[in-house]
Amino acid sequence: MPTSINPATGETIKEIAGHSDEDIERALTNAKLAFDEWKKTSFAHRASIMNKAADLLEERKNELARTATREMGKRLQEAVAEVEKCAWVCRYYAENAEAFLSDDPRDSDAKKAFVAYRPLGPVLAVMPWNFPYWQVFRFAAPTLMAGNVGLLKHASNVSMCALAIEEIFLDAGAPQGVFKTLVIGSSKVEHIIDDDRLRAVTLTGSGPAGAAVASAASNRFKPSVLELGGSDPFIVMPSADLEKAVETAVKARMINNGQSCIAAKRFIVHVDIYDDFLDAMKSKVSAMKIGDPMREDVDMGPLSSKQARDDIAQQVKKSVEEGATCVTGGKVVEGDGFFFEPTILANIPEGASARTEEFFGPVALVFKAVSAEDAIAIANDSPFGLGSSVWTRDSDEQEMFIREIEAGSTFVNAMVASDPRLPFGGIKDSGYGRELSREGILAFVNAKTVSMN
Ligand code: NAP
Repeated sequence: MPTSINPATGETIKEIAGHSDEDIERALTNAKLAFDEWKKTSFAHRASIMNKAADLLEERKNELARTATREMGKRLQEAVAEVEKCAWVCRYYAENAEAFLSDDPRDSDAKKAFVAYRPLGPVLAVMPWNFPYWQVFRFAAPTLMAGNVGLLKHASNVSMCALAIEEIFLDAGAPQGVFKTLVIGSSKVEHIIDDDRLRAVTLTGSGPAGAAVASAASNRFKPSVLELGGSDPFIVMPSADLEKAVETAVKARMINNGQSCIAAKRFIVHVDIYDDFLDAMKSKVSAMKIGDPMREDVDMGPLSSKQARDDIAQQVKKSVEEGATCVTGGKVVEGDGFFFEPTILANIPEGASARTEEFFGPVALVFKAVSAEDAIAIANDSPFGLGSSVWTRDSDEQEMFIREIEAGSTFVNAMVASDPRLPFGGIKDSGYGRELSREGILAFVNAKTVSMN
């Protein structure tokens, strides 16, 4: 039975009855029936439901935010902002879906030719706990607006958030079956992907989960989108506004208690400003206040689970054994809850595991670069390719970073952030496909060629 545990205290909040195999069967039948009607509805109709969902998110934001904070430990202020962002993505697709999917005329030998974008059917979303609302709404808003229907298998530690999302769509007027949460373990996912009624799948999560889902999907020739891990570089060159770069570096690393796929994780700093950067970063990181994520004056809450806390502690220990220097932090906080000190590691030797692993917790890895070319080489020396952030006022360097860094995005003099208006996704071990913007809604449609004479 999925159990929600408050990571700030270690206490069990709730045990949630999971769905049975019969429930899964019923959900698939209902999804197919709902799709057969939903796909015939107008964009205007779907947009009115999506806008209503946005209204409900705004009305319920404090209650929803408290649920997320209790289940996975993010700071309450960040949880409120997350719910507000979900309302934004709902309104964005309510407004833009029709234009994104309007018939696209093409020249050919026929009298008339165009591409018509048609929905595919029920789509399964396998989602992680770290942004328990945002990850789901950035899937659901485009998918439902395109005329598909959604099934959600959320991470097992955020079932209360998962059920609250289903309630929002039902209360907004979505018919039964248009969006369904299944409280199930990951062992049930392959069976659902295998089912003929299911037409596509998206997963946000770790590499092993992505590999399992991608292989099940490809065995049945079903499209998939994978948003996986990252170890984003954050490059700082001498011409950068150092104060702003340091301030943003700390925010970009420590957001969501250090558990964001697009968190800046590897700080690659030019040798001329390396000492100044590291000193300033150390003073900010060591001053962070750790504590109850419900409190406004706290900078850092707990990790999402005991396992997550123990994993990050082990990664730090191993890195130090391999020769890295722990500049600040590095220890588990004793007492209740799953807290870990905000940490900086530097002098990470060649071949050390920290150069290739993702650190999914509040640990910054700092590297020294002797030139822009060296910074790019360090940035690209990673299995991941999600986001990247570069800090320089030199336009030649900006152009070189944009051209050479292997990543799904490059943000110049800003931290990487997702935005409904901009496509989001990665390359290499960070996955494939794009969410958000026009690319996001095109992920799960049939681009149907129409040729008329
Ligand atoms: P995870 O263990 O992969 O879990 C993510 C989801 O996949 C959960 O719903 C999980 O279910 C399910 N799952 C796990 N193993 C599975 C399998 N073999 N088959 C099918 N489903 C499976 O990921 P996590 O450790 O909770 O999340 C952190 C990871 O997600 C990090 O690597 C992070 O970078 C990545 N992430 C990426 C993005 C992005 O947009 N690129 C965004 C956020 C997070 P259970 O909970 O029931 O195990």
